[in-house]
Amino acid sequence: MYALPMQGRFIFITGGVLSSLGKGVIAASISSIIESMGLSVSIIKLDPYLNVDPGTMSPYQHGEVYVTDDGAETDLDLGHYERYTHALISKKSNTTAGQILDHVLQSERKGDYLGSTVQVIPHVTDEIKRRIFLAQNNKADVTVIEVGGTVGDIESLPFLEAIRQMRYEHPQHCCNIHLTYVPYLKSSGETKTKPAQHSLVALRQVGIIPDIVICRSEHPICADSLKKISLFGNVPIHAVLDQPDVEHALFEVPIRLQEHKIDLLISNVLKLSPPNQSNVTVWKNLLEKSIHLKEEVLIGVVGKYLEHKDAYKSVFEALQHAGLSQNLKVKLIEVNAELLEQNMTIPEADAYIIMGGFGQRGFEGKILLAKHAREHKIPCFGICLGLQVMTVEFARHVLDIKDANSTEMEPKTKNPVVLSLEELKNVTQLGGTMRLGSYPCNLKEGTKAFDIYKNELIHERHRHRYEVNQSYVESLEKGGLLVSGKHPATNLTEIVEIQDHPWYLGVQFHPEFKSKSFAPHPLFVSFIQAAKEAQKEALQTRVMPV
Ligand code: GLN
Repeated sequence: MYALPMQGRFIFITGGVLSSLGKGVIAASISSIIESMGLSVSIIKLDPYLNVDPGTMSPYQHGEVYVTDDGAETDLDLGHYERYTHALISKKSNTTAGQILDHVLQSERKGDYLGSTVQVIPHVTDEIKRRIFLAQNNKADVTVIEVGGTVGDIESLPFLEAIRQMRYEHPQHCCNIHLTYVPYLKSSGETKTKPAQHSLVALRQVGIIPDIVICRSEHPICADSLKKISLFGNVPIHAVLDQPDVEHALFEVPIRLQEHKIDLLISNVLKLSPPNQSNVTVWKNLLEKSIHLKEEVLIGVVGKYLEHKDAYKSVFEALQHAGLSQNLKVKLIEVNAELLEQNMTIPEADAYIIMGGFGQRGFEGKILLAKHAREHKIPCFGICLGLQVMTVEFARHVLDIKDANSTEMEPKTKNPVVLSLEELKNVTQLGGTMRLGSYPCNLKEGTKAFDIYKNELIHERHRHRYEVNQSYVESLEKGGLLVSGKHPATNLTEIVEIQDHPWYLGVQFHPEFKSKSFAPHPLFVSFIQAAKEAQKEALQTRVMPV
């Protein structure tokens, strides 16, 4: 059994009825409210699927893979945690059933269980609890634990059992919050509570009675429906919170939760005496600003997973953060890279962003877009694969190396301008083998990159297998594609830019992971400013008399 840190408190957030209710944003918002009360917070996401991590999953399955500083490939909800709080997010902040079973089986092989029969209870549930305590790290005043999936899923059972045990073992230290769904039936014009009732019954069947129920819905829920949920759920009516879809921005979530006095509800359950009252001013200010935006910029997003809203989550967030900082609405226009290959006209935009990705599909479409933006001097931002696209395009059309390519797309190319990272050449295993996490990067003075960061040394997060071939760097630079950022020890190309262009810059890393609404990333801010400039110029040329 694990020693419980005396001041440690645990808030478990489970979900009912269906996924995609915004449990991650709720967990992040609650964490932000608790932080504002002067308490330290740690957050962990428990994912009941069997993959060791989401790194090997398709973006269509699971949305974006979020990368931490210490190189973990994790669930995208960790992005919300980092964007809403100051909590330290690391490998310890996401664990899956795959990792837990792997650990238990390896321990069994080592003989750690001293001849006992290895079972879900206690061995798997103990390992789940150990990981929760690891995330708490003997430090955090409050640890928020989000459980992926919904109650009733077979694979969630060991996680719910571990939570039940923790409450049984430390009743004063645990608070259970259940997020459920209350659909609105258009035909009868009313909200229906039956699915929520069922999810509360499912939770009760595994021995958990929540302290707080948050009801997600498209419309406000009437008092009678909330009363029903309270009665069926064994939860006092003041702890059944109505959380309809937000009108303007996700910043509204912490504001609404505070209006519902979730801070007091949690403090009562956990017997907390926080130093401060909760404060959501930061969110109120951002919301106020976002409601009153008048001007907008149009950003063409060039990718191939565009139909999956979550596949580029952090980039979309970072663009919005930067827009807000410049008092601009950012309107996105989807540019499907595969359709570009089939001669689709490139939609007009003030600026383009070429997204990261893997594999040949859509690569040539991205090349066409990069050429268009370069030749027409339209601001263009390449992220990870985007940098590689910009480099191959430049080699083909400026240096006239017609068959220049990346070995990811054409393994036998005679001109591998982008090729596999040396250290990964003989790696065959797929999961967790990329260049992952935070690496330093030296910036060259006098470049746009330096001008933006105003620093010689920066640190950014990575997730890639390929790099710019260093033997082409001299020719690329002579031709006008400057390497303005390099990894200090290996000289690996981290940033490329064209100086004779209003804004044409590619990065091998993922700056989007470090952008927060209250601290937008400088690269995105500069990019949005360039988009606005380009818009103004285009307008001027249009109205100028011929
Ligand atoms: N496929 C490229 C690589 O592995 C780019 C990866 C990315 O965009 N995240 O290097």
